[in-house]
Amino acid sequence: MTTTATTEKQTCGFQAEVGQLLHLVTHALYSNREIFLRELVSNASDALDKLRFLSVSEPAYLENDTELGIHIEIDEEAKTLTLRDNGIGMDRDEIIAHLGTIAKSGTKEFLKVLSAQQSKENLLIGQFGVGFYSSFIVADKVSVRSRKAGLAAETGVEWQSTGESDFSVETITKASRGTEVILHLKEDAAEFLDNWRLKNLIRKYSDHISFPIWMQKEAEPQSDEEEAEDKDSNISDATVFETVNRAEALWTLPKSKISDEEYTEFYKHISHDFSDPLAWVHNKVEGKLEYSSLLYIPKNPPFDLYQREASKGLKLYVKRVFIMDDAEQLLPLYLRFVKGVIDSNDLPLNVSRELLQNNAVIESLRSATTRRVLDTLEKMSKEQADKYAEFWQSFGPALKEGIAEDFANKDKIAALLRFETTQSEGKSTVSLADYIARMKDKQDKIYYVTADSAAAARHSPQLEIFKQKNIEVLLLSDRVDEWLVVHLSEFDGKSLQSIAKGMLDLDTFANEEEKKAHEQVVAELKPLAEAVKDALGDAVKEVRISHRLTDSPACVVADDNDLGGHVQRLLKAAGQAMPESKPILELNPNHPIVKQLDQNKGTEQFKQWSQILLSQAILAEGAPLVDPATFVSQLNDLWKGLLAAH
Ligand code: ADP
Repeated sequence: MTTTATTEKQTCGFQAEVGQLLHLVTHALYSNREIFLRELVSNASDALDKLRFLSVSEPAYLENDTELGIHIEIDEEAKTLTLRDNGIGMDRDEIIAHLGTIAKSGTKEFLKVLSAQQSKENLLIGQFGVGFYSSFIVADKVSVRSRKAGLAAETGVEWQSTGESDFSVETITKASRGTEVILHLKEDAAEFLDNWRLKNLIRKYSDHISFPIWMQKEAEPQSDEEEAEDKDSNISDATVFETVNRAEALWTLPKSKISDEEYTEFYKHISHDFSDPLAWVHNKVEGKLEYSSLLYIPKNPPFDLYQREASKGLKLYVKRVFIMDDAEQLLPLYLRFVKGVIDSNDLPLNVSRELLQNNAVIESLRSATTRRVLDTLEKMSKEQADKYAEFWQSFGPALKEGIAEDFANKDKIAALLRFETTQSEGKSTVSLADYIARMKDKQDKIYYVTADSAAAARHSPQLEIFKQKNIEVLLLSDRVDEWLVVHLSEFDGKSLQSIAKGMLDLDTFANEEEKKAHEQVVAELKPLAEAVKDALGDAVKEVRISHRLTDSPACVVADDNDLGGHVQRLLKAAGQAMPESKPILELNPNHPIVKQLDQNKGTEQFKQWSQILLSQAILAEGAPLVDPATFVSQLNDLWKGLLAAH
């Protein structure tokens, strides 16, 4: 390879986040540093995949360099390790963009979290995928020499950095297409100059990438003369290379030939995740459609699972040729956490993202893949409860989206849902089937309450009567829960009922005496309810005497057809216009405050006290007050009166 004079050397600062990431990477991953090899091999393999795809329609991109693969070369004297691929390569602009910035959105926020949680760095950084920057765990200087496929030799580019604050780029002449990463190894990383160790690492990490990885064949014992001849350069023309990996795409092999370790390593290779996957499912399908799929369920959610720009979907191959990453048409959005590969024999090689839309083959692949993931989860939930709990912890809220998104699989998804309930001791472990199995005699509804947090849900005043009667209630506090209950109106013939909505019909649980007593109080306190409504005017839709409360004096509930307070706040936060709906105030007839209030109808303070009652009921529901200052001054007046009376 020849290098001629360079032009336009330029030094650029790393994007601030890169600097931060580099610092974290080199510190947090030190104990796991051999992973740089997997990351660099993955990049090279991606670059080869891209070139192979391009060359299907434009064979000229191959030039005369048609055997695609990765060379790894050791130079013991210079203490360098070089990874060279003949893939797609990068031009000057691309190298600046790709190796100087981080394209992922939400990086800043993520890095903030990382820095704040030092002890978890290792784990969290895995969710981010450090890629190329992992070079700096083992190298104190890195040179990347690249030439993009299809461009002239003179438009090569060399990138160099010590991984601190900046990097340089200059134009070079590079005869061969592709990218060469030269790692100047740190003093304490000399172990990676060991040919034998390196080969083992490659077999461990990259055995089943689709391209060959070539390394120098271990020297046979040599005669003195031969050694003298070789002295000038480690890599002479006579150097013999051997393929060190199996170089067969893992998903093409029969299941019986693949070990758990191999599945696990392949997952890390495609996902850039540092943790093992939670589960995988591998299928080869022959028949109307012919394809292989290898799907993984990760252990931890990626940092950007709930961001719109997050990567989603699977890697799509057609007849072993890589077509695209993140083919989102292959999976519904709610399964975006699934990683893996689909290799189809039925699609044309020139398939584009546009073509994937409304394509019958893709539709079938998508429903089969969805089914397969859901079946895997179902099996896990039945056979490995602990593992499933781990899954739920990581991806439960995403799966919940499926209830609204995937009508065809709604029942299947509903059976996979897990909830925190008044009886679950702080854990989201209760399935709807569990709930139904322990429903009270004569209970025909699944009760739930929604709130901004599990704690708020657990302390909701509306729960009081349910606690007293020992009826289980689902505590919903994920953002997605409001949509969930809109789309899941029943499960197994039992309807879902909000305990904060409408008239509560708990008569079935009351005995005759209780019922009579309640009817009597309602009649007795009718004038009070009317007086409070008069005092509050338009601020409430209705005031009524409640039987949901045992400890609190009052609560607000929504009308049957209105949106609940929690969902109204969510919509408002999302900038949605919505019909104004006023709360219904319910009074606890057995509470001393309410009883006292009844005695004070028509007094001067009655209006103010009614307002205080409403304000605190709104606060207990988790809503903000329209006019908090007035509430505070009303409360202080009340207090003043009390203190004066003492
Ligand atoms: P990621 O691979 O997750 O995108 P990296 O930091 O590892 O992140 O790489 C950033 C980008 O640099 C890649 O997406 C790719 O565009 C480019 N790149 C890295 N290595 C190579 C290579 N060997 N050949 C071509 N492009 C590469």
